[in-house]
Amino acid sequence: MKSKSHCLKVSASNTVASDAEQISKLRASQSPIAISLQRCPTWSSLDPLVFKGYWDNDSDGILVNTGQTAYFTFDTPSRPRLSGGPLIGEYIFEQMHFHWSVDDFTGCEHVLDGHGYAAECHLVHYNSKYQSLEAAVPHADGLAVVGYLLEAVDAPNPNFDMFIEGLEQIKKPDHSVALSAESLAWMNREDVTNGSYVTYKGSLTTPPYGECVTWIIYEKAVQIGSEQLGLLRQLEGADSVPIERNVRPTQRHPPGHSVIYVKQVKSKL
Ligand SMILES: [Zn+2]
Repeated sequence: MKSKSHCLKVSASNTVASDAEQISKLRASQSPIAISLQRCPTWSSLDPLVFKGYWDNDSDGILVNTGQTAYFTFDTPSRPRLSGGPLIGEYIFEQMHFHWSVDDFTGCEHVLDGHGYAAECHLVHYNSKYQSLEAAVPHADGLAVVGYLLEAVDAPNPNFDMFIEGLEQIKKPDHSVALSAESLAWMNREDVTNGSYVTYKGSLTTPPYGECVTWIIYEKAVQIGSEQLGLLRQLEGADSVPIERNVRPTQRHPPGHSVIYVKQVKSKL
């Protein structure tokens, strides 16, 4: 038994590199897209995703109302990092932002199996082989964006409390507030390491719409309370009226475009 499991381990790790390489060579599309999970090939041989510095980071961050979205970033060089899964190399966290609309079903950008959600959160990372986000955008392997679909429920999700308190301070465009890295801690550690996700090569969903993104979108939606959503919807844009909708419509899949459904093998960590 011992030697058998050893063999399996060796062959699994051999496959891992080629899986990520295969994904890196897939044709890119414009994003977001509507995805049918049943039509996606299912892969379970990828390495687990590794999120570093998300839960054990004492850096200070800043939350800004950009007039288009709520945008969280760090003002220190110590930033979370993402690797594993479909990614080759390490990607550095740059910013987190949100998309939403006026109702609970059209606020997401990606659509999974025809299901609409209240909002979508994007965690944007750039490839550490480039100097900055700006330097990475022109490259096909430049960015990795983790997407979460947010489902509206009655009860507030306490994991969002810190972030929501920040939102109360930035109702007006260009307003900002200092916020600790704990405002990223709403991500469930177990779910990000073991949860299923879809991955594909796509684009930014805001100008310049560059096709530089490896998308990683978790299948399991994260719950957010209606009142918490209300605070997102109260953020004001440049015209001093609430930002009603900051969602790009789904784009057509080009011919030969693939989305991979990834079932993560339970991490040994
Ligand atoms: Zn986005």
